[in-house]
Amino acid sequence: SRAALFDAENRVKITFNDVAGLDEAKEEIKEIVDYLKNPSKFTKLGAKIPKGALLIGPPGTGKTLLAKAVAGEAGVPFFSLSGSDFVEMFVGVGAARVRDLFKQAKEKAPCIIFIDEIDAVGRSRGRGSMPGANDERENTLNSLLVEMDGFATDSGIIILAATNRPDVLDPALQRPGRFDRQISIDKPDIIGREAIFKVHLKPLKLSADVEPKDLAAQTPGFAGAEIANVCNEAALIAARRDKESIDMIDFQDAMDRVIGGLEKKNKLISPEE
Ligand code: ATP
Repeated sequence: SRAALFDAENRVKITFNDVAGLDEAKEEIKEIVDYLKNPSKFTKLGAKIPKGALLIGPPGTGKTLLAKAVAGEAGVPFFSLSGSDFVEMFVGVGAARVRDLFKQAKEKAPCIIFIDEIDAVGRSRGRGSMPGANDERENTLNSLLVEMDGFATDSGIIILAATNRPDVLDPALQRPGRFDRQISIDKPDIIGREAIFKVHLKPLKLSADVEPKDLAAQTPGFAGAEIANVCNEAALIAARRDKESIDMIDFQDAMDRVIGGLEKKNKLISPEE
């Protein structure tokens, strides 16, 4: 439907404080906040402001969150769409959607455009997926490249795109003047997990025995999304147990539940392994 062309948020409330860990990525992406807030500082010296950056990392590690925080910090609108939405699109719709998005973004500039799962449209041409479906995907990719080349570097639009498969991307996307910056976002280590727990524990009513350090130690391999999930599950479990505050045992049960969910998902994805 027309209503689902893409999402637009005019006032983003997320800031870097909401993004725990990811110190290096935050440091790199702060430059983009500066480009949006103070473009003339760069253009007056003749510098060309980058148009796009790729955020590369596994699912649930905070790529969307970080992109939103850039918009929040710079105080600019956030337009987003997901590459996977284009996969089963009718002829011409994907390309029209991309043109529409850029038209609106130009009207609202300075702004951020965020493309999640860019690999779904940005796979190197002539590769993968069903025959026939490919042509439309390529049309969409081509219109994205045309739009990216078509706006000036000082137009105030910066495009952030997320992927966990940089290896399949069409090299045309990463040419200079397109997504020529890469920011990698890894799963958090124990220190990062503790920081993420602290963010998501903040709104909860906790018992004295709940320690972010212990939770971090018990969740190796968890991404931020799973940690957020554990925190909410623990609160739901404690509430169901009619408690006044959330105990460590509730977190334990929540972790078991989230681990169970992950195992099930992995089995569904790779049944032959
Ligand atoms: P996907 O590739 O699956 O789209 P993503 O990398 O974009 O995932 P997000 O959607 O940003 O991940 O993360 C999902 C949620 O997980 C966030 O809304 C947030 O609640 C939590 N989260 C993830 N990473 C972090 C982090 N570094 N700090 C705080 N919360 C996090």
